[in-house]
Amino acid sequence: MSTDSEREIPFGRPQLGEQERAAVAAVLSGPILTHGPKGAEFEDVFARFTSAAHAVTTSNCTTALHLALWALGVRSGDEVIVPAMTHVASAHAAEHCGAKPVFVDVDSATGNINPELVAAAVTARTKAIMVVHFVGLPCDMTALMSLADSRGLPVVEDCAAALGAGFGGRHVGTFGRAGCFSFYPTKHITTMEGGMLVSGDAPLAARVRKLRAFGYNKALNERTVPGVYDVDALGHNFRMSEGAAAIGVCQMARLPQFLETRARNAATLREGLSTLPGLRVLPARHGPACSSNFCVNVVLPDGGPDRDEFLMSLQRDGVGTSVHYPVALPLSAYYRGKYGWQAEQFPEASRMARQSLSLPCAPHVGERDCQRILETFSQHYRRQGES
Ligand SMILES: *Cc1c(COP(=O)(O)O)cnc(C)c1O
Repeated sequence: MSTDSEREIPFGRPQLGEQERAAVAAVLSGPILTHGPKGAEFEDVFARFTSAAHAVTTSNCTTALHLALWALGVRSGDEVIVPAMTHVASAHAAEHCGAKPVFVDVDSATGNINPELVAAAVTARTKAIMVVHFVGLPCDMTALMSLADSRGLPVVEDCAAALGAGFGGRHVGTFGRAGCFSFYPTKHITTMEGGMLVSGDAPLAARVRKLRAFGYNKALNERTVPGVYDVDALGHNFRMSEGAAAIGVCQMARLPQFLETRARNAATLREGLSTLPGLRVLPARHGPACSSNFCVNVVLPDGGPDRDEFLMSLQRDGVGTSVHYPVALPLSAYYRGKYGWQAEQFPEASRMARQSLSLPCAPHVGERDCQRILETFSQHYRRQGES
């Protein structure tokens, strides 16, 4: 193994420094380790950044998505429309409510759910539409919201990879009834594990608050007699610790800088990759949609280099990659086994699962790293395209 940091550009590397360490140390020295003032401060800062009326911290994005659907009344026998190309959490959230995820193929230009196919998938059992802003590029929220509104269906936005992304200048997560964010280590900001649900709907946000904390009828600060409460709902413990929230507050202060660096790196990479024949590079903008540049996602041409071999050769030359996502979700062992989805139903998601890869553009990537990523990629692309 080499210790030369020049040699390895990982896909993700969290930006954590002295401020985050001091903030956690302060929490550890104090009397409140969970559901306290740091959590409330993180929620306030996050609501301000996204212009959401309400923000609720959760243990991660998966639990936020689960609570959003459950609080909207999704139950056994219901259907939830979900894109075929997404993180497994988007579908598991519906499944955990006892509902059936009904998968819909994505648009080849963006990787986002195809609104026309959504319209065709709505049935009498449909209870909600889950949209996912694929690797940070917002979905067509004009088409999706008008469709959802005309059918009276709530939309939940999976914004796990889309912190900082906008559609027509409005932050994602604020179009649907709820938007859910992730603070997993590779995301735009991290709290180690963590999530946030935003909503413009006060009763929904209140329900989510209750459900993330056991279903207590009174929060800690609402109890007149200390320790005395009743339980009026079947809740979970999906809360965030004060240490995680303290890190989140520090990270939010650095987010504008992180986003700027991501945008610059992604622009350099997209421009360089655009000269390679046959390579499809997913865009930073699409109509009113403006990406948060979670990564630079490319789709290798049909009959082109083998994706797995290609990313292994990049890996050998020190360029870390990721795959979003290695399986079209309806064709995963669990969902295919349970519901019998077929590959022909999802031609675009299947192609992306087979031929796409994601390059790093996060703040740990410097300008010289971008040049190295481009050179390495182009070299292997030309060589493996010929064979
Ligand atoms: C990361 C991610 C999730 C899961 O988030 P966790 O915080 O790890 O639960 C869900 N959906 C998408 C699109 C993601 O990128």
